[in-house]
Amino acid sequence: MEEQPMTDAVQAYLETHAGEPRALLEQLCRQPSIAAQGIGIAAMADLVEGLLRETGFTTQRLTVPDAPPLIFGELRGRSPYTLLLYDHYDVQPPEPLELWQSPPFEPTERDGKLYARGTSDDKGEIAARLAAIRALRAAEGELPITLKWMIEGEEEIGSPHFEEIIAPHADLLRADGCLWEGSGFDPSGRPNMVMGTKGLLYIELEVDGIARDAHSGMATILPSAAWRLVQALALLRTPAGDVRIGGFYDDVLALTEAEKAAIAAQDDMDDELKSIYGIERFVDGLEGAKLRERGNAMPTCNIAGLLSGYTAAGVKTVLPAHAMAKLDFRLVPDQDPHDIVAKLRRHLEANGFGDIRVNVLGASGPVKTPLDDPFAARVTALAEQFSGRPPSITPITGGTLPFLGALRKLVNVPGLSAPGDPVYWANGAHSPNEHVRLEDLDRAVRFNCHLFRNIAG
Ligand SMILES: [Zn+2]
Repeated sequence: MEEQPMTDAVQAYLETHAGEPRALLEQLCRQPSIAAQGIGIAAMADLVEGLLRETGFTTQRLTVPDAPPLIFGELRGRSPYTLLLYDHYDVQPPEPLELWQSPPFEPTERDGKLYARGTSDDKGEIAARLAAIRALRAAEGELPITLKWMIEGEEEIGSPHFEEIIAPHADLLRADGCLWEGSGFDPSGRPNMVMGTKGLLYIELEVDGIARDAHSGMATILPSAAWRLVQALALLRTPAGDVRIGGFYDDVLALTEAEKAAIAAQDDMDDELKSIYGIERFVDGLEGAKLRERGNAMPTCNIAGLLSGYTAAGVKTVLPAHAMAKLDFRLVPDQDPHDIVAKLRRHLEANGFGDIRVNVLGASGPVKTPLDDPFAARVTALAEQFSGRPPSITPITGGTLPFLGALRKLVNVPGLSAPGDPVYWANGAHSPNEHVRLEDLDRAVRFNCHLFRNIAG
């Protein structure tokens, strides 16, 4: 079964305004907005606020000192049923520039694809939502539901001020459901939905051994920072991959039977992954649904980087004074990043490594919406109705949306990623030559029309 065409005034508007989604996307992408470099952020906030107002929203800026504004818009519709939307107007830096086939902030079409930084992450979804809202208002006079939309400017640097920004505004953000930054469709045309993201605890471990690097002949009598660090690291995980920190798994929720069934129904990507990473087998020889269950349900303790001593070419006999490791833990419900830090410190102390400094660089909690939550079930049914295919559902992804932990804590509205974002598996997000396929942009507009129209039932 194929996508059902809309045969009415909304469809007529989309046909007579066929260039609008692309024009909106090009306008958004021509304005650089690089959070990491502080480039173009203020102008981008103005542009986003202006576009929301032109589309009928009343807007306000939610701010705290030294952070770009979160643009908040509200558009009341026929029904009090309220959807909260999330997007971000910042983008990743475009470097390395020499790898772009066209300039990153000059949207350029090649082979039915529109290339520019931000096309897929996340300005394409802003354009698709704006175009859908404009079509519904033009065709029906008003929106069928009420929309609240928050668009922040720091997602690509980890949303460091999001919690502080929304903390005084929890009531403003109340809604019946929240659509996070969205998902797309898989190669066979199945809509993708994501119900949760893992939390992220990012830390540095630092060892100060001696006041300055020494001749390695002194290794008989001087302490070694490098050995001390690797011995501490070895305390954190078994060779088989189990985390040894006392109590680490205490709060891990098992997958439900419904989540296991959703995972079993996903397309198998084992061979593609093996080929991408050049491996013959996965950890523990897992395959198929069991492998995907592990990916969804289990937390990680990953060494992201190690630094000590001499690492350039040739020989330098040195006893390094300092050693440092960066670690990230991807956490699952109901693990709490602050509780895990406390358990890590206790574990190091109990094993005689209390001198190792633990610096916390980031902490956001895991979030998961149950598959049988009424909002999740409703969006799932609409995605199937739209595409004629049962959605592929991911109960929890390996990545982290940093704002979600704060949103769950302060507002607690059920949320998910719905297939209203023109993203696909090869769009080059965060990389040179980022792009969207223009046909996906139009489908995302149609999906958002379908969702906004029917979500209230
Ligand atoms: Zn994004």
